[in-house]
Amino acid sequence: MSEAKNISTKNNKAENVNYNRKSVDSIKRFIILFLLVMFILPMLFCVYLMIRMGKLEDKIDTLTALISDRQTTVEELEDTYKAEQEEALEYLDMEAYDDIEIDASYNELLADTSEASGSSISMNGKKVYLTFDDGPGENTGIILDTLKKYNVKATFFVCYNDDASTWHYYNRIVDEGHCIAMHSYSHVYDEIYADKEAFINDVSMIHEFIYDQTGVDCKYYRFPGGSSNTVTNVDIQTLIGYLEGEDITYYDWNALSGDASYEALSPEELNSNILKYVHSNAGDSMVLMHDLTDIPETAYALEQLIITLKEEGYELCPIDESTVPVQHVKYIGDLGYDSGINTAD
Ligand code: ZN
Repeated sequence: MSEAKNISTKNNKAENVNYNRKSVDSIKRFIILFLLVMFILPMLFCVYLMIRMGKLEDKIDTLTALISDRQTTVEELEDTYKAEQEEALEYLDMEAYDDIEIDASYNELLADTSEASGSSISMNGKKVYLTFDDGPGENTGIILDTLKKYNVKATFFVCYNDDASTWHYYNRIVDEGHCIAMHSYSHVYDEIYADKEAFINDVSMIHEFIYDQTGVDCKYYRFPGGSSNTVTNVDIQTLIGYLEGEDITYYDWNALSGDASYEALSPEELNSNILKYVHSNAGDSMVLMHDLTDIPETAYALEQLIITLKEEGYELCPIDESTVPVQHVKYIGDLGYDSGINTAD
């Protein structure tokens, strides 16, 4: 009996050992699984993330290259635009719409525009309005003398000249029967066209200066660069609207000598240019010239110009209330337009 008992006890022990081994195996498997989950999977995930990061870095490099390319393009475009704008500014500063060659099609265009917009050029005219911009300067005296000699009245679109020795010319212009008109106080585009207030201020200053100097309440104006200038920051309609409100009439031109071209032209060339315009204009001619100090050719050319125009039967007139304005840009009136600029007067 006791032997049988011993055998049974041994069997029990063997079963216990087997059971314990199974438990240890389970724990081992669990530990391995745990290790797998805790270390290997995150490592795999890290590897995946690193690969992904590498790809994203590649993408970033590509995009950065693209952006820098575009920036270069934008900078190039800006440079080109700036250069063109500066060129245009210089060009307009001289108020020469034609550099050297005179283009008759410009006049045709003007005539067409004028007809379409209600005729700013009288069609029966044989009148020529000689106008001188940017003065007074050293040549103003010569011009006034020549006009006096031939009893011709002209129009002077004057600016403020800080050289007080020229101020007596403002009075001579008026005293000798010419039309004195405004062409801005400073003639500095950046200042005049910066905003509406700056423009109003400039017009007011030249108006006041002329009034103080001559007693004339000036009602005629010429935009620096013309009403068709492309340098104004303010819509030209807003500025024209202001002038309209002040009962000021603006005059552009439909003939020019090219005396403000980069290349100095001879008196003969200046006159030849003017005559081409005058002959091709359907109606009256508004001739743009300058009495700037550094353009003596205009003053020297004037005598022969007057002689030729008179011989050809043209009537030389100063601007007055009856003068039909030549205007590159027409006022379209108040159409509810909002310039976005403070329009408080
Ligand atoms: Zn000018």
